[in-house]
Amino acid sequence: MSFDNDPLVTRMQGFGTTVFAEMTALAVRTGAINLGQGFPDTDGPAKLLETAAEAIMGGANQYPPGPGLPELREAVAAQRAERYSLAYDPADEVLVTVGATEAIAATILALVETGEEVVVFEPYYDSYAAIIALAGGVRRPVTLRPDAGRFTFDPEELRAAVTPRTRVLLLNSPHNPTGTVFGREELEIIAEVCREHDLIAVTDEVYEYLTYDDAGGGTAHVPLATLPGMRERTVAISSAGKTFSVTGWKVGWITAPPQFVRAAQTVKQFLTFTASAPYQRAVAYALREEREWVEALRVSLRAKRDRLSDGLTAAGLTTFRPQGTYFVQADVRPLGFGDGREFVRALHERAGIVAIPTQVFYDSDAGGPYARFAFCKRDEVIDEAVERLHRL
Ligand SMILES: *Cc1c(COP(=O)(O)O)cnc(C)c1O
Repeated sequence: MSFDNDPLVTRMQGFGTTVFAEMTALAVRTGAINLGQGFPDTDGPAKLLETAAEAIMGGANQYPPGPGLPELREAVAAQRAERYSLAYDPADEVLVTVGATEAIAATILALVETGEEVVVFEPYYDSYAAIIALAGGVRRPVTLRPDAGRFTFDPEELRAAVTPRTRVLLLNSPHNPTGTVFGREELEIIAEVCREHDLIAVTDEVYEYLTYDDAGGGTAHVPLATLPGMRERTVAISSAGKTFSVTGWKVGWITAPPQFVRAAQTVKQFLTFTASAPYQRAVAYALREEREWVEALRVSLRAKRDRLSDGLTAAGLTTFRPQGTYFVQADVRPLGFGDGREFVRALHERAGIVAIPTQVFYDSDAGGPYARFAFCKRDEVIDEAVERLHRL
């Protein structure tokens, strides 16, 4: 018996390999500059790394408790309380996960039944579509479009996307890949839709610290759960990867009312059960003690954002200077390219730079003209890329 012609994983047909893995492999194979996948090329705070190393050498190497180490759940609850005045009980309102990716997977698999709909803003992070499909759900995309230099949505389109079958609204802010940080007015509209239709909001806040447009303090990110009537219907997700430049550690968490945490944990216990005891301990330390390091990271990323945005503009692209995240969007048409895919191919062949055609994050064809560049790289790498852009 052979399985050669068996359509394995039919629920995931059309997903194939993630574009990030593909683009990173291309960059590694050809020695190109990788501005495709969003991972930093410098380490997180030294004491964080030491704490993990010490935890490993000190014997923290067996299964941690299913919901996560108590010290990490307490640190997460303290962070939400201090930063956003959101109170969560570490005993039953915090769940530690294997990165934000598992948090999203467990939450969607738990909350979405076959045929139920998930409203999601496109362009969206690629795991969303795959997980909604695995859950047997249906995604209802609402398109973000450029308006006054940033990407936002049309409230009427958002309202029209909700049907009696809609169960979840999935929101990512600060938003990858557009760099939009949703403001209070936009969040009010989203919250109103959730309240009116009794939706559960799932918020992906992995870039919660990486916002750039305020003068100081870094508080531009507003969690949806802080809006009236939203805490009780919101599953908030974040992770250590982006905040502490340890994307390979995969320590994430959910904060939500107990019934949602229980639902997500019911799924999570059969995905991974638990993971990463030494890293959990290190992240608990960093959430409490490394705020100054994170603020310095934010300031440094803001300068990198400007460095790359200015370089892309100088090369003739129309750039959308992001309010947050690791990424800048560029409209490639001013350079004579038909779309982002054609541009990204030429960029690799002629300039030795890998970027992502933004179209891959859309269901509709609204992403055609754009390419996404990551700026979470050393200044020399950004400068070399900017220099090479002129070969186009
Ligand atoms: C990086 C990223 C994730 C994944 O986070 P992990 O903690 O690495 O699993 C999730 N959502 C968005 C928007 C991201 O950019």
